[in-house]
Amino acid sequence: MSIDTARFATRAVHAARSQPSAPPRATPIYLTAGFEFDDFDHAADHFGTGNGFGYTRTGNPTVRAVERQLAALESGADALLVATGQAAVATALLTVAGAGDHIVSSAHIYEGSRGLLVDNLARLGIETTFVEDIADPDAWRAAIRPSTRALFAESIANARNDVLDVSAIAAVADAAAIPLIVDNTLATPSLLRPLEHGAAIVVHSASKFLAGHGSVLGGVVVDDGRFDPALAGHNAPHLVLPARGGGPSVAARHGGLARIAYARESVAPRFGATPSPLNAFLIGQGAETLRLRVREQSRNALAVARWLAESHAVESVDYAGLPSHPDHATASRYLDGGFGSIFTVTLRGGLPAARAFVEGVRIFTHMTHIGDVRSLVLHPASTSHASRSDEERARAGVHPGTVRLSIGIEDPDDLIEDLAQVLQRTKEVAA
Ligand SMILES: *Cc1c(COP(=O)(O)O)cnc(C)c1O
Repeated sequence: MSIDTARFATRAVHAARSQPSAPPRATPIYLTAGFEFDDFDHAADHFGTGNGFGYTRTGNPTVRAVERQLAALESGADALLVATGQAAVATALLTVAGAGDHIVSSAHIYEGSRGLLVDNLARLGIETTFVEDIADPDAWRAAIRPSTRALFAESIANARNDVLDVSAIAAVADAAAIPLIVDNTLATPSLLRPLEHGAAIVVHSASKFLAGHGSVLGGVVVDDGRFDPALAGHNAPHLVLPARGGGPSVAARHGGLARIAYARESVAPRFGATPSPLNAFLIGQGAETLRLRVREQSRNALAVARWLAESHAVESVDYAGLPSHPDHATASRYLDGGFGSIFTVTLRGGLPAARAFVEGVRIFTHMTHIGDVRSLVLHPASTSHASRSDEERARAGVHPGTVRLSIGIEDPDDLIEDLAQVLQRTKEVAA
């Protein structure tokens, strides 16, 4: 029976079945739960080897194309796309650590990552030690135990704008035969590629600069492909011991790519934060223009930060692009083509001034997001950092009068005009 002669309800679901077509130049969106097997043996081979595509939770051609694109941008060997940045951090950490293991993390990280470490991973038996002085390699070294499975830090950290000395901390990780995992969301591979400086794994919230349009969420794990079983196997028994049922180990099957292969086969599809192929497409579209946006946003951010630093309504500006910032030299050494576009400004007049600021801006959008083409503002002390104590907030650079800015691609003169009118108002409430 052919589809043409089938009945109405059958035609409805089968008549559009995909046909070979002309090769599309843009990445096609394979919005499908799964893929048809050629025959009996093809299905068995897919389940046995993981090769090809079977079900979108374990692989999808649109997702794969964007993974190749993001791996190339980060100078990585391979990448794994997941549903959110939070899922990327969780996947990377669960790829290297299990119950009884230990992680050493920068104390200056995204609040969602911190919550994952102190609440969720702790309940799974993974303990974390936080390093406060992240510029000091000895502080990292001193926190490492025999059970430590990774070092974790952000390339540029919010809110103090700390810039990581990647090669110095990567050397500490190498000496302990464990990976340095860097959350590179704020720097983006346009400014800094941590794998080129010795980090082993990079993670991103692709919801931010990689997409850039603020329309979708996504996350990515990028691996350097340099896992060495002889050097690091004792810290990763799950990669070097025979598989369940006695088959070859992950390292035997995937060599240097063992970590990302394990993340792809055994972590991401089991915990299940699979990206939608449509979202993957939108992230890939965004990433094509990453360099143009980040260059423009960095230029705008520097102009805005310089202007703010001169204002009488402002107490301090924490931006690594300003020579006054403690990490300016490190930033100048690592960042290529700008200093990023996210920073904090602390207003004179404390909380009332901050309230007047977020309520008075016209071009800036008041929301919890960063890395968008639009300029955004948020008051961290009453939102992202509300659950921390005053002392913890102060150590993180979050004061009652601190607002976080994410500078977009608008004309910088319009941004400065908006800030001028709003600082007039903050001065009135502070007076
Ligand atoms: C936003 C963000 C995350 C979490 O990403 P989502 O896509 O929101 O899940 C992780 N790390 C950093 C540095 C972020 O800014």
